[in-house]
Amino acid sequence: MTLENIDIFDKIERPLLIAGPCSAESEEQLMAVASALAGKVTLFRAGLWKPRTRPGCFEGVGKEGLPWMQRVKRELSLPVATEVANAEHVELALSAGIDVLWIGARTTVNPFAVQEIADALRGCDVPVLVKNPVNPDLELWIGALERLNNAGLTRLGAIHRGFSSYGEKCFRNAPQWQLPLELRRRLPELPLFCDPSHIAGKRELIMSLSQQAMDLNFDGLMIETHCNPVCAWSDARQQVTPDELSIVLGRIVHRSAAADNNDISSYRRQIDEIDDALMGLIAKRMEVSREIGEVKREKGLAVFQAQRYNETMQRCDEYCSIARLDAEVMKDIFEVIHSESIRQQLNIVNDNPGK
Ligand code: PEP
Ligand code: MN
Repeated sequence: MTLENIDIFDKIERPLLIAGPCSAESEEQLMAVASALAGKVTLFRAGLWKPRTRPGCFEGVGKEGLPWMQRVKRELSLPVATEVANAEHVELALSAGIDVLWIGARTTVNPFAVQEIADALRGCDVPVLVKNPVNPDLELWIGALERLNNAGLTRLGAIHRGFSSYGEKCFRNAPQWQLPLELRRRLPELPLFCDPSHIAGKRELIMSLSQQAMDLNFDGLMIETHCNPVCAWSDARQQVTPDELSIVLGRIVHRSAAADNNDISSYRRQIDEIDDALMGLIAKRMEVSREIGEVKREKGLAVFQAQRYNETMQRCDEYCSIARLDAEVMKDIFEVIHSESIRQQLNIVNDNPGK
């Protein structure tokens, strides 16, 4: 899949900012927050149709809010965006002139729903942002983008909003940065956004998550903003006021992604040298593994010996506590090295069956 850049996003300096309330509640609420944001953000967001986890919660004002969005656009010259979850939402949003649509995490997860949206959008190249599915499944995320792309949509973007899990946790939807980064590697032209509000679930974490996203070279942020967050009809804990948003934006440090940055090039050289040394050591370790494989074959000894494996892991654990390394991470690394060592030894045994 190749995707063209979204042109309205292209013209604008990074980071591109999308802000506005989780939900449109009334015309006054929408105009108040939009007036406070006009001139500060690129795109105004407000959910009209709200997918809620449990029935009985506020499920959005629906199409009643479309004229309010039109007023924001007309009176404040602020492009507007809303979430669509089915063909009816798409038709209503398009006929009201909504500038950008987004697909929510609970919809991205469902290929039938995404296909229905893609079919309803066929022939209309409106920008569409696709939030990651609720579960960390990169193929499902890419699949949703492909369904839209196959329907002729080229002005696409992706939003990382974290992944849900069960139990007590620090984040409402924990970020797994490796997924959007892998998405970027596979689709380098695709604009990539972060939604720190839905990752955090609480406003205190929005600053640090926004900084992290900028450090990882995301193209922009979607931040839920409300004039009176504590009274918001949905997601009250995670919304910030327009003033708080300005503080967050003002405090973000923008780091250069340029590869020839002098300040970091000497560190990069050191890292390259260490990586080379690491690979050399691993190659050496595998050579020794093959040699021990020969000996085990000659002596008729089993390749895998649980006692020895436990000792290796124990050594790794002890080293970690001295060297201030994360024992879990090092354990993962050693498991990979150990299993590759076993594979190399098995090759020796299997390649020389007659000896
Ligand atoms: C939202 O943006 O208000 C929303 C419902 O987000 P998500 O799909 O990420 O839960
Ligand atoms: Mn929300």
